[in-house]
Amino acid sequence: MRDENCIFCKIAAGEIPSSTLYEDDMFRVILDLGPANAGHALILPKEHFKDVTELDEAYAAKILPLAAKIGTAQRKALGADGFNVVQNNGTAAGQTVFHFHAHVIPRYDTDAPMIAWEPGKYADGEMEQTAEKIRKEM
Ligand code: 5GP
Ligand code: ZN
Repeated sequence: MRDENCIFCKIAAGEIPSSTLYEDDMFRVILDLGPANAGHALILPKEHFKDVTELDEAYAAKILPLAAKIGTAQRKALGADGFNVVQNNGTAAGQTVFHFHAHVIPRYDTDAPMIAWEPGKYADGEMEQTAEKIRKEM
C-alpha cells in the first residue's frame, strides 16, 4: 500500500530521484538531504507505514540487519568510529515525515552525544508504579 501524498512513498518508488545506497523489492536506502554527518542514511520501506506501530513484521525483521550492513559500510567507507540507528515516532519524538524510516548515522569519536539526557530520579515507589502502568497496556 502507498500514500499518494507521501514524499517517502515517491522516493522509495524511485519517482523522485535520491542518492540510493541500496535497493531491493522491499526497501530503498537513501542519503538524508539534511545529514547529521555526511553519509547519514535513511532506510525506507517501499510500503507506507506511518511509524513503527504500523510496521509489518516481515519488514521489521529486516531493518536491523540492513542497518548493520549500512553502518558497517559507513565505517569502512568514511572512517566512522561508530553509528547510531535512530527511529522517531510522533512529533514529540522528532518525527517530521510520517512514513516509517530508520536513520543510520555515521559517528566519530569527536562528535557530541546524539541523544543526551540529564539522568532523572524516581520518587519512592514511582519506578515500580510506572512499570506497572506500562505493563497493563501491553
Ligand atoms: P524524521 O525527523 O521524520 O525522523 O526524519 C526525516 C528526515 O528526512 C530528516 O532528517 C530530513 O532531513 C529527511 N528528509 C526530508 N525530506 C527529504 C527528502 O525529500 N529527501 C531526502 N533525501 N531526505 C529528506
Ligand atoms: Zn509513504
